[in-house]
Order: sequence, then structure tokens, then C-alpha cells
Amino acid sequence: MTTVIRQDDLIESVADALQFISYYHPKDFIQAVYEAYQREESQAAKDAIAQILINSRMCAQGHRPICQDTGIVTVFVNIGMDVKFECDMALDDVINEGVRRAYTHPDNVLRASVLADPDGKRQNTKDNTPAIIHYKMVPGNTVEIHVAAKGGGSEAKSKFAMLNPSDSVVDWVLKMVPQMGAGWCPPGMLGIGIGGTAEKAMELAKEALLEPIDIHDLQARGASNRSEELRLELFEKVNELGIGAQGLGGLTTVLDVKVKDFPTHAANKPVAIIPNCAATRHAHFVLDGTGPSLQTPPSLEDWPEITWEVGANVRRVNLDTVTPEDVKDWQPGETVLLSGKMLTGRDAAHKKMVDMIERGEELPVDLKGRFIYYVGPVDPIREEVVGPAGPTTATRMDKFTRTMLDKTGLTGMIGKAERGQVAIDAIKEFGAVYLMAVGGAAYLVSKAIKGAEVVAFEELGMEAIYEFEVEDMPVTVAVDSRGSSVHQTGPVEWHDKIIAAKAL
Ligand code: SF4
Repeated sequence: MTTVIRQDDLIESVADALQFISYYHPKDFIQAVYEAYQREESQAAKDAIAQILINSRMCAQGHRPICQDTGIVTVFVNIGMDVKFECDMALDDVINEGVRRAYTHPDNVLRASVLADPDGKRQNTKDNTPAIIHYKMVPGNTVEIHVAAKGGGSEAKSKFAMLNPSDSVVDWVLKMVPQMGAGWCPPGMLGIGIGGTAEKAMELAKEALLEPIDIHDLQARGASNRSEELRLELFEKVNELGIGAQGLGGLTTVLDVKVKDFPTHAANKPVAIIPNCAATRHAHFVLDGTGPSLQTPPSLEDWPEITWEVGANVRRVNLDTVTPEDVKDWQPGETVLLSGKMLTGRDAAHKKMVDMIERGEELPVDLKGRFIYYVGPVDPIREEVVGPAGPTTATRMDKFTRTMLDKTGLTGMIGKAERGQVAIDAIKEFGAVYLMAVGGAAYLVSKAIKGAEVVAFEELGMEAIYEFEVEDMPVTVAVDSRGSSVHQTGPVEWHDKIIAAKAL
């Protein structure tokens, strides 16, 4: 029998699912992260996982985004062939209307991160549309929809290769994962697509990430096909790399590895990796013509009660009085609590400032002796001074770092994940410092921000330069003034430990 799906039901269901996943991690993800927390032996990684879990619980309670990057929306739609749509818009437009309503919801406004004209003006579409939508026609009289909101940091680490038929997928994945660094905010999942054509392999990898975390079930029952064999082998070998939470070195880099395959041409072996980050967000619903399909809120009991105490020997720093001389004592891996005023700036602000410097123009802010935080916050609601405001990937600022340190007298930078060698060399040369905050703990970080004011480039929206007043904002010294990087030393140390323990 034909089912009629009404336009408003589809819009409401999409909007509800996107609001829901902005503040609720999937239950299987929480359980897997908690398990990783319990078994983690690297203190730095364990602290980072603790912040991710505390942040997750706070978001579930406060109904505010898990991460400041609330993602680009991907939708997989399976349309039953006995369905009729009662819509006066194209199906893409109906789904995008759901996206628009979710991202502009006044009770929990989400960050609009989508830019039109990507190699030109890069103008924000303001409502996070359009979504990336995949359709499939299937037997039946329902519409099954999966929605996901994917952070740009993890999407940026996607990899694709057209391997030779005789090449090893395992070897290629193990070569790629270290190159992905920590900008994808591990611990998370890897979606791997094998076969089809170039675009099919990427789609398979993305679709694989929608599956629940169940690697322990697979370990218990054993593999029954090649995809499952690969999952087991890669889960073990990727974790043996020792990359760890946030790339700090540790036992858990991936919580699961998902593999989807498809027949391919005899001359090809296309392979894709897409990682899912600490802000894993996806939901699923079915429309059967009886009305909107809304998500069921989880119980807060699904979240572990974790406390995270900073150690007694933590360094407290007053940003208003700290000097370039002071930072020379800071040790790699040391926890620092920042208080006082810092500036913010990310990609667009850095490009603008460096262009101005090259043209000999005066900058709108004085960066001498200051710290800059790489962040694009969510807009505040109600009494908030700022919405969730976690760090963005620092490597994107690497190419600007030498000029910024040399020409502005900047003392320090705060971001997430590792720095590239070009930035590390500049940090060493100018005796500066790079601090990292935990990616995927954005709401927790925002609680340390007591004041926020736009001070330059207001036209850049979330990419404007703000001045934040912070109190006890927790960060880790990731590159010290001598150029020692915890993202280089930590994974090597933990890889060696894991291999040594295995040999016993
Ligand atoms: S957790 Fe990291 S990669 Fe994921 S959305 Fe947030 S900042 Fe981006």
C-alpha cells in the first residue's frame, strides 16, 4: 500500500534529529569512550578523555553543542518505492529546510559553518545549508533517514587512494593514519570504503561511520568475511601506533574501525578513509506516514560520573602579566591554567592579518606579548557570554605562524592537535609557545570564558577576532619554546610501550 509522507513531517524530523545530535552523543559512543578512559594508562590521554566525557554530560544536561564546530550535514535517505511525497518543494529543499530550522533554533543556535563559492568569496550561507544528500530507492513503503553532522577538522583528514589490485589495504591505512595527525580529534572511529569507483569508495567510508560501535562483539564472535577480518586487524594495529587521545600518546586511538566494500573493476582497488571524531554525531529515523519521527531523549544515567582534577603542580598563568621570558620555563606536556585576556583568530582572520602586514598596514589589534586562541565559537544564547568555544586545528595556521611571530611580537598560540615542522621551527626561533586545548570539549572550555567581545573583523562572523577574558582555562604545553612537541614524543613513547608489553 502506498504511504504518503508529508513535507512538514520530514522537515520537523530532520530538524529534531539535528538538534538532538548537537548535544547528545550516541550511547554506544559514550560507552566506548568510557571504556577507553578506564583502560588508559597515559595520564595526558586519560585527562583528555575525561574532559571529553565531562563535556558530553554537560552538553546532554544543558542542551548545548558538544563541539563549537557543529558540522556540515550529511543525509542518507532510503526511499521505499511505495512512498508518495506530498511536498511543494524539491526533496533536497525539504531536507535543507529541516537543516535551516535546526541550525537557527533560538533555544540552541548552532554554528553555521557552510560557505558558498568555496574557491572564491567563501561566503557563509548563514543557516548551514545545503546538506550533502544521498538517495537510494529501496523496496517498501517507508522512508528511512540517517543524518550526521560532521566536523570540518575530521573531514579534513579524509584520505583516498587508487591502490594497485595487489597492494595491501592494511599497509596503506597504517601509513595514512600517522599522517592524519590529531586534527581529527581522536579517540574516534575510522570509516573505510573499499571498491566501487573513486566516488563510491568515499561514500562507503562515510556510510560506514553510521554503524554502531560493536568491535568487542566482533572480537568475541570472530570474523566471517574479509571486511570483518580487516576490521579486527586494523583495530589492533591502528591502536598499536600509540597516537592516543588528541595525539598525546596512549592506548586508544580508535574505538572501532568500520569497513564497507563493493565490487570493483579488475584494474582498480579504490580505498578511502574517513575518520569520525570525539564529536561523533548521527541519528536515524523512519517515516511511515503517521507523522514526524522524533528522537527519544536518553537518560543521564547513560553518562559516567567522571571528575577531573588538575594536579597539584599545575602552572597557573596570568595572561595579563606573563612575559616572553616566563614562557621559556614551560615544559612540554605540562598542564597550564590560563586566566586573563586572550585574543582569538582563525583561518580568515590570519589570512587578513598577514595580507595587511604584507601591504605594510597597521593591524586592528596589538598582538605584542599576547596569546591568540584558534577558535570560531558558537553564538551565545540566554545568559551565556559565548557559546561552546573549543579549539580548531592549529596546522591550518602553520603557514601564517612565522609572519605572526616575527611581525607582531605574539607570545603564544592555543589550538588543537599538532603543529607542522614549519610552525615548530618558527616557535623555536622566536622563543614562543604553543598550547593545546582538548578538541571535542567545547562546552566545558566555554565555561572558563567569563567575557567575550568582538574587537576586529566583525564581518567575519564566527571567524572575527574576539577578546576573551578567561579564568582557569585548562591547556597543555604542546610545543615548548625550544621546539619540543608532545605530539612527536608522545606517540613514539606509547608505541614503544605497547609493542614492549605485547612482547612479554
Ligand atoms: S571534535 Fe574536533 S574534529 Fe570533531 S567537530 Fe569538534 S573540533 Fe572538529
